[in-house]
Amino acid sequence: MAHWFISDLHLDADRSQARRLFLEFIRTEVGARDELFILGDLFEAWIGDDDNDPGARPILEALAAQSSRGTPIYFMHGNRDFLVGEQFCQATGCRLLGDYATIDVYGTPLLLTHGDLLCTDDTHYMNLRATVRSAKWQREFLALSLAERRQIAADMRAQSRTEIAAKPNDIMDVNVAAVAATMQRFGVRHLLHGHTHRPAVHSLSLDGHAAQRIVLGAWHEQGSMVRWDARGFALDTYPSSGAKITPAQAY
Ligand code: MN
Repeated sequence: MAHWFISDLHLDADRSQARRLFLEFIRTEVGARDELFILGDLFEAWIGDDDNDPGARPILEALAAQSSRGTPIYFMHGNRDFLVGEQFCQATGCRLLGDYATIDVYGTPLLLTHGDLLCTDDTHYMNLRATVRSAKWQREFLALSLAERRQIAADMRAQSRTEIAAKPNDIMDVNVAAVAATMQRFGVRHLLHGHTHRPAVHSLSLDGHAAQRIVLGAWHEQGSMVRWDARGFALDTYPSSGAKITPAQAY
């Protein structure tokens, strides 16, 4: 039995390698008695559950097949696929999590989040996020035709690429004070997120206690995953390089 964590696959028609890896990962690594947590940005863009893009079908089918094997699959919104909704969950068996979720992994309370909320230095993005996450914006967007939505999503991605290229590198990472405040607010010493595409295990001190922030990487030629079982966790690539397991209950 293991808990698997992945994020930032950014799957779309142009990313056949990441898609192939994901389909192989879910089929060969995730056991029926395991649990799978997808922490956002599974898709490069998601313009609504009514999208008829055939490219997404194999992904939905793989998730549905795994769910029907009995594996609980949890889905957290990323900044690319925050419009994943009820219909998607019905089609795949995924259960939607909120922006933050604290779970118990073998006795360790672990806080999960996509990661964008921790990048508080990027005020431009935080403002954009507040807009597109509002019920009003989403209602109006989802009322548009699929073609219109597709165009807006493409424009937003192009705009974001231009802005990212112009932003200083550290603005694109988490704010360490926001990390500490968030972990204290949820009363945890372990945080796991993605979004920044900077896979690492960071050690920090919270009120004099050792704590860890685990960051998932994006999927390109290789995948990135955390496998957590009774012995502890390993941040690894997929296919696995056999990364060493870090005991998590030592604190
Ligand atoms: Mn993201």
